[in-house]
Amino acid sequence: MIWYPYEQMKTMKKPWKIVDAEGVYLDTGEKRLIDSVSSWWSVIHGYKHPELNQAIISQVEKFSHVMLGGLTHEPVERLSEKLKSWLPGDLDYCFFSDSGSVAVEVALKMALQYYMNRGEVQRTMILALEHAYHGDTFKTMEAGDDEDYHFVLKAYGACPYVKHIPTDTAALEEVFLQYHSQLNCLLVEPLLQGAGGMRMYDIGFLKRARELCDQYGVLLIFDEVATGFGRTGHRFVADQVLPDILVLGKALTGGYMGHAVTVANRTVFDGFYDDNPEHALMHGPTFMGNALACSVALKSIEIFEKQDYMSRIHRIEAVTRREMEGFCDPRVKEVRIMGGCVCVEVKDGAVLKGYQQFAYERGVFSRPFLKYLYAMVPYVIGEEELVQVLRCMREWFAR
Ligand SMILES: *Cc1c(COP(=O)(O)O)cnc(C)c1O
Repeated sequence: MIWYPYEQMKTMKKPWKIVDAEGVYLDTGEKRLIDSVSSWWSVIHGYKHPELNQAIISQVEKFSHVMLGGLTHEPVERLSEKLKSWLPGDLDYCFFSDSGSVAVEVALKMALQYYMNRGEVQRTMILALEHAYHGDTFKTMEAGDDEDYHFVLKAYGACPYVKHIPTDTAALEEVFLQYHSQLNCLLVEPLLQGAGGMRMYDIGFLKRARELCDQYGVLLIFDEVATGFGRTGHRFVADQVLPDILVLGKALTGGYMGHAVTVANRTVFDGFYDDNPEHALMHGPTFMGNALACSVALKSIEIFEKQDYMSRIHRIEAVTRREMEGFCDPRVKEVRIMGGCVCVEVKDGAVLKGYQQFAYERGVFSRPFLKYLYAMVPYVIGEEELVQVLRCMREWFAR
């Protein structure tokens, strides 16, 4: 049987079975539902996209996968060249992997070894944010800060290699002053912290972080697994503040399959580029650079550019602000909107009990968690459909 994610199997509600999906719609055979979650924020072009489908079909007729150990191929070469030219600054060196968690692990390993290769072995500490989420593997759980996901780590006691701070410039300055000689990196989800509760913070924090990282020689890592490809209203937050290492996942393949990439800048890459074989990055996921994933990612980026997705995302934000204008309720703590993300945070999570069924009856698939009712819709959504999603959220409180 299937062991479902984040569920108490004994009490979980029966999942809806999807038999078909097209555009923004999931089809259960009985009901068509707008996917307001974009399958965990990844399906930016919607389902059954003809061009994305064709990209995979064309590649599968050549080959689906060959390993990158000692071999290479056109889709991975083209995707890395595309990312090199498309991403800001000198974020030019692409290390592929099969999931966001692994790509964050790779970023942390890179940061650690970068300093080992330079002989600065005392730099072992990761600086991360309170309420951070970076994945469910062990190092990413340590860098994360969410009891609800990572409480199993308690078995090990406090982790001495990670410090967590709030998104507050004073706290940032203080921790740099105190720990700068031990820090190897600052890891953040820039501007929007997703799984930790759709928390939004100011770009000023990141600008100051960049200055401090430069001043003390600490690597800045952006985990844009969720925020990348326009979700915050910026193409990448890295376009605003340039990190040393950028991690992309989720929407990289348009949500077609699991793939991710850790992109390093020239300085980081050069820290490994050496005659010493021990200075090599010893990592290599079996399915890294998978040819189907690279082909569909290339097509996804092409569509993103050609169809000016950034203006679609700005339109989604404008409609969201218009529809949520004036919404307030004593049970609601805050409404937060940024780019293609809207979150209604309630004071008590019990308020959201029953919402999923309520939305289902109104033709919307939603998956609130803890105290957060949110939508991250596919960018291809029409205005009417978006309004349907947002009105559903408001109507829940108007009952
Ligand atoms: C989803 C997510 C991850 C983990 O990605 P997986 O592909 O699920 O391993 C890491 N970081 C952030 C910010 C995420 O939202």
